[in-house]
Amino acid sequence: MAISGDALATMSLQEMLDTYQPTKCAECGVTLHETTTGCRTVGPKCVCSDCYFRTMSDGLEQYPICIPRMHRGG
Ligand SMILES: [Zn+2]
Repeated sequence: MAISGDALATMSLQEMLDTYQPTKCAECGVTLHETTTGCRTVGPKCVCSDCYFRTMSDGLEQYPICIPRMHRGG
């Protein structure tokens, strides 16, 4: 075996921390608690519920999801 179990475990843990940063919001840096701040996964990041919904609404404004218009003109 070329890769030892230790090396593999260390690598994947570091990679996971770098990628997911599971303890802090990637947007505002608040420490995440599932019951208080919420813990939402957005792509490779974890964010609190506030940032999650803010990001969602920003995204909707920029890229509206096919909302049928009830009236024309204007
Ligand atoms: Zn946040």
